[in-house]
Amino acid sequence: MRIVLLGAPGAGKGTQCKRIVEKYGLLHLSSGDILRQQRAEGTELGKKAQSYMDSGALVPDELIVEMMAGAISRIPDGGYVLDGFPRTVNQAQELDKALSADGQKIDAVLNLEIDDSIVASRMTGRRSCPQCGGVYHIENLKPAVEGKCDKDGADLTQRPDDSLEIVENRLKIYHQQTKPVVDYYKNSSTVYDIDAGKDADEVSALVFVKLGELVEV
Ligand code: ADP
Ligand code: AMP
Repeated sequence: MRIVLLGAPGAGKGTQCKRIVEKYGLLHLSSGDILRQQRAEGTELGKKAQSYMDSGALVPDELIVEMMAGAISRIPDGGYVLDGFPRTVNQAQELDKALSADGQKIDAVLNLEIDDSIVASRMTGRRSCPQCGGVYHIENLKPAVEGKCDKDGADLTQRPDDSLEIVENRLKIYHQQTKPVVDYYKNSSTVYDIDAGKDADEVSALVFVKLGELVEV
């Protein structure tokens, strides 16, 4: 299965991807995680991406498409879930071109629908584990011990781009540039709209029903 997860920043894409991966054994490719890794390693790409990410802007399409096409081509076999990519119609078109050159296509798109008012508090309350990438929330999905990762005990950190000021910019950009990607896929793929305003377990249940239908086909 090749799946794309769409939704505003903070809608819960990463959280649901981790659960999909556990259940279906797919690979999780998050463009944001790959970019943060590139920055941590101090690569050229990481340096180029830095100022865009810090202001909440999108990194230019050509850099992202090359990065993600490369990551996808290194997946040996089987399926994957894309998280945070594509984020513009141009990226979606480029992805389709790259896949069709190999006789492949996206099998399903899960569109996590959520209100801006909820999403802002999800982002400002997000905490992440710098070691394993685990994601928590200070109110909704708390770790067992405050400020520590359940898996490895590392100190949880807050993403610099999750400050209220930057969050507002990211949401504006989502509506301008990423929302049209949903319509792009509605013309070419199966898009499942999911109510992502529910609690995380309820959202997972909705996601698994849809993916279950797909597996049976
Ligand atoms: P995205 O990958 O779409 O940016 P995340 O999966 O990182 O979003 O989730 C954003 C924040 O919201 C995190 O702090 C996460 O723990 C929390 N979260 C995710 N899904 C839910 C949910 N259904 N209800 C409440 N909080 C959630
Ligand atoms: P995320 O972790 O998905 O919230 O992404 C964090 C930041 O990385 C975004 O605000 C963008 O600056 C950048 N980014 C991630 N994915 C993309 C993408 N597909 N296109 C452009 N920029 C991206």
